Amino acid sequence: MYMGIDIGSSFGKAICLNDDGDVIARVLEPTGLGGKQLANKIRQAVIEQIGQEPTYAVATGYGRINVPFADKTVTEISCHARGVNHLYNECKVVVDIGGQDSKVIVLGPKGSVADFVMNDKCAAGTGRFLDVMARALEVEVTDLGDLHYLSDKRLEISSTCAVFAESEVISLLAQGEAREDIVAGLHRAITNRVYSLLRGRVRGSSADFLVLTGGVARNKGIADALTEKVGAQVHVPDEPQFTGALGAAVIASELKLHKEGELQGVL
Ligand code: ADP
Repeated sequence: MYMGIDIGSSFGKAICLNDDGDVIARVLEPTGLGGKQLANKIRQAVIEQIGQEPTYAVATGYGRINVPFADKTVTEISCHARGVNHLYNECKVVVDIGGQDSKVIVLGPKGSVADFVMNDKCAAGTGRFLDVMARALEVEVTDLGDLHYLSDKRLEISSTCAVFAESEVISLLAQGEAREDIVAGLHRAITNRVYSLLRGRVRGSSADFLVLTGGVARNKGIADALTEKVGAQVHVPDEPQFTGALGAAVIASELKLHKEGELQGVL
């Protein structure tokens, strides 16, 4: 039983794989105060699901140092790359949008990282941007995707900065603009921001197989807005928020092979 645990800024995620590579447990827990308590709580929930202790555990995410039972820690860039490669062999580029950062990862052979670029300096282009806007619109962040599809008017949100965009949203509401049109405009604003990361990395991007991951990818409106912007189908895994944890679990399963001397090379 191989556990991958990803302690992010907003959520702790865990996946457990069996020897056949099947997902046998999945745990999602808000980060809250985080720390070792969170990691232990997630581990306990995994044990309840699988009925035994995981054989190996690999930790990733910004809180990975607070996972006392981890056999190994790996960066979230490497784990997202491995997780996506596990699901889509043909993937060339990963766009991950999490709570506090967004990243573009160019994959090399076997899910290795050929290159990456990250935005973690400001909220624009991250989940936090949408969390703040949802509050201003008095809707749940989980409802943004459905609202996107109700939009029938193309509104442009000119501010990419979260602080200015929040004021812009409030004045658009005051002018009587519909929530769904504002939401779709916000989705285009966030994807424009992510596209500027992507453009610098991926020449001729329309030819590349692109996968969108992270909690924000649970919002289908974002994948649609990014597909429109890139001009090619953007693929989203069934459980995009768990991709980093999945990659960590895949690496955990390889720890066993390494220990048994069956696998050579770099993890
Ligand atoms: P982190 O790894 O930084 O904790 P995640 O990849 O877990 O981040 O993504 C968290 C973000 O995902 C939140 O900020 C929120 O905007 C978004 N999110 C989480 N759940 C949903 C959902 N059900 N629908 C839409 N967006 C979601």
